[in-house]
Amino acid sequence: MELRQLLPEERIYCGEPMKEHTTFRVGGKAEYFLVPSTVEEIEALIRLCKTYQLPYLVMGNGSNLLVGDKGFDGVILRLGKEFGKIEVDGRTRRIKAQAGALLTKITQEAAEHSLSGLVFATGIPGSLGGAVAMNAGAYGGEISHVVESVQILTVDGEQKVFTKQEMNFGYRHSVVQEQSCIVLSVDFSLEDGDREELFSKMRELSARRKEKQPLEYASAGSTFKRPEGYFAGKLIMESGLSGYRVGGAQVSEKHCGFIVNTGGATAADVVAVMRHVQKTVMEKHGVMLEPEVRFAGRF
Ligand SMILES: Cc1cc2nc3c(=O)[nH]c(=O)nc-3n(C[C@H](O)[C@H](O)[C@H](O)COP(=O)(O)OP(=O)(O)OC[C@H]3O[C@@H](n4cnc5c(N)ncnc54)[C@H](O)[C@@H]3O)c2cc1C
Repeated sequence: MELRQLLPEERIYCGEPMKEHTTFRVGGKAEYFLVPSTVEEIEALIRLCKTYQLPYLVMGNGSNLLVGDKGFDGVILRLGKEFGKIEVDGRTRRIKAQAGALLTKITQEAAEHSLSGLVFATGIPGSLGGAVAMNAGAYGGEISHVVESVQILTVDGEQKVFTKQEMNFGYRHSVVQEQSCIVLSVDFSLEDGDREELFSKMRELSARRKEKQPLEYASAGSTFKRPEGYFAGKLIMESGLSGYRVGGAQVSEKHCGFIVNTGGATAADVVAVMRHVQKTVMEKHGVMLEPEVRFAGRF
């Protein structure tokens, strides 16, 4: 197949188990799991998917993905370390980073150069592409606050620069989810900061996460979005669901906002826990919890 003319053999994986590539450690096989190393390869692969009408999904670090047990019939494009370049310009207080760079790495680099604005991202285990797609945020900050512009590959295969306004950022939302476009790189505009203070704040946030979040288990972070006026974890706890379990999936006893994989969970287990949580919280509090994790493939 043409695929082998577009990508070296060692970057093509057929029937790749997605549990190996998601922080949930859950998910069936991707028909094709491809690891492009250049933008030209991404463009060519998308064209190929369109020609053969193969569904495709671009992923970063797999830290917000729940892939179904029956796998993904199509192509998963993983943007990895070849898209990990980070360039810092301390003078103009700008950083340009590629979509595959880890958010935590960019945060470290910013602090090294005494640039402030990204400390909130300490401990978010995603890639930059995933962080922009999701408008990732924590502790009062979110990626949209520091993004100046985003280099995008549109669904028609055109490279464009989107301004922050064009990104249509909202709570855990961006234009990427509306238009299925691909984030290639991002320009950040940051503020001057004090290196020692930035690192001290980062250490504080890491410690806070370790204390409050079940980081000892596989998960995809907060399972549900924060409903307006409430906290999902608190609603779940007050609904008596702490520790509720189906198979290997469990509402974390440490932080009810997380569903964790205690070992051997299937996507079906996770979905069963999610459904029960949604139903119970609706009955007890009249609030419909909306998933934050992104579903992919067949369940
Ligand atoms: C322990 C833990 C703690 C977490 N804490 C937080 C938190 O505090 N705040 C928060 O917001 N999230 C948190 N998360 C969730 C997750 O880390 C973020 O949503 C992160 O931004 C996802 O990035 P990713 O690269 O892993 O994306 P993936 O999981 O790979 O993908 C997520 C979505 O982004 C899309 N996507 C990925 N890369 C691209 C790209 N280059 N172009 C277009 N679309 C793309 C995918 O198609 C998918 O729809 C946490 C997760 C874990 C496991």
